[in-house]
Amino acid sequence: MTERKSYGFETLQIHAGARPDPTTGARQTPVFQNTSYVFKDADHAAALFNLQEYGFLYSRLTNPTLAVLEERLATLEGGIGATVTASGHSAQILALFPLMSPGRNFVASNRLYGGSVTQFTKTFQRFGWNARIVDFEDFDAVRSAIDEDTRALFSESLCNPGGAVTDMDVIGSIAEDAGLPYIVDNTLASPWLCRPFDHGAALVVHSTTKYLSGNGTTVGGAVIEHGTFNWSASGLFPSLSEPEAAYHGLVFHETFGELGYTVHAHAVGLRDLGMTQAPFNAFLTLLGIETLSLRMERCCRNALEIANWLENQDKVASVSFAGLESSPFRHRARKYLRDGLSGSVLTFRLKGGYEACVRLVDSLELFSHVANHSRRVDDASTTDGCRAARCRC
Ligand code: PLP
Repeated sequence: MTERKSYGFETLQIHAGARPDPTTGARQTPVFQNTSYVFKDADHAAALFNLQEYGFLYSRLTNPTLAVLEERLATLEGGIGATVTASGHSAQILALFPLMSPGRNFVASNRLYGGSVTQFTKTFQRFGWNARIVDFEDFDAVRSAIDEDTRALFSESLCNPGGAVTDMDVIGSIAEDAGLPYIVDNTLASPWLCRPFDHGAALVVHSTTKYLSGNGTTVGGAVIEHGTFNWSASGLFPSLSEPEAAYHGLVFHETFGELGYTVHAHAVGLRDLGMTQAPFNAFLTLLGIETLSLRMERCCRNALEIANWLENQDKVASVSFAGLESSPFRHRARKYLRDGLSGSVLTFRLKGGYEACVRLVDSLELFSHVANHSRRVDDASTTDGCRAARCRC
């Protein structure tokens, strides 16, 4: 599914997964805006339905434009396969779906995008999935939170917001010791800045809505599989290691090997949960990815200059950004992020508190005050400074 050639990142961000269209010669990936695919005959239809032959069946499960995006993302992350979804949030549901069942839990970092905390602790409860939110800086607490019902560990690589960088090698080894998959949300870093598979992750999830699509046009998500986790070793993941009734007793991990999780994500996850990405959205995201390295480097360097400038302003109480020498996460940024760069999301507090923050936000001219670049700071652990303001910019 993925191209494992020795091309560099900048070549792969343009070419991975894409080939000239065999019938028309079209060089850019076409938008396959169709729902169905004509079967050659009844046997062909049966083989596709029974997963005995690879091919396109119905666009809720697979689509040629989405397949190019999946191959590109898997290649850039160093994974074996990927499944794209309608949003980052639906990617998180899809990622956990084959691992979880009512009464099971997963252990997640307390440094997460606020929407993920709400999804994990409120909405997932209605599925009977329990999220144990733990300080991932306290490794003993992470170990203690794991019990016989735990099915995964979850963190962000570069955390949104706050500029923390997770110690993925340590969390990855805690997961490995427990025989559990470590899922890393790599949204804020992107595969250009960070490769969680090199640090113990079994699965990477993305909100492609952010740096990957890059232009603020498209909501999307992805689940990427490393291909090395043994889903059959412990008996904890029966969806992957035991016969699937809806596919005549097929065992996903046994049949599809290192791609078992990804085939399951399409054949069962997308089939029954239906969080399929629209082909046009995949097309826009593919265009965005073509310039990922250029945008990321510029974004990271601009953010570093802004953070350094803010840190020297009288009215600024503190700046949180792993690119700053003063950041407690500076050494992690050097270890885990390309060239020690630290992404481009930063947070800062004003000495004037809430009122000063509101005045600042309301007087911005070039920066926009929008949903996916703001958060309530009163519902996070950082309540001093500008309480209750929506003021990250
Ligand atoms: N993960 C992170 C780190 C995010 O920042 C976001 C959205 O801001 C999400 C997941 C959810 O993604 P989406 O908005 O595409 O559903």
